[in-house]
Amino acid sequence: MDVRVGDVLRMKKPHPCGCVEFAVLRVGMDFKIRCLKCGREIMLPRLKCERNIRKILRQEDPPAESGEVPRPLPRSD
Ligand SMILES: [Zn+2]
Repeated sequence: MDVRVGDVLRMKKPHPCGCVEFAVLRVGMDFKIRCLKCGREIMLPRLKCERNIRKILRQEDPPAESGEVPRPLPRSD
């Protein structure tokens, strides 16, 4: 699965705060992602993360099929 820094991942399993969308901060053997609702950062193994992805929301690509618009990433830091 092609996940890049800056993508927003919509996950199958929500964060404890209830949000299912996470910004990708770093990719590699582990992914570092940040919850878009509560801002908490999470490190998890790539495989585990990829299995949990429902959809990748990429800002560069216009949403062709569903009309969904990815939300801009929070710039809290
Ligand atoms: Zn959260």
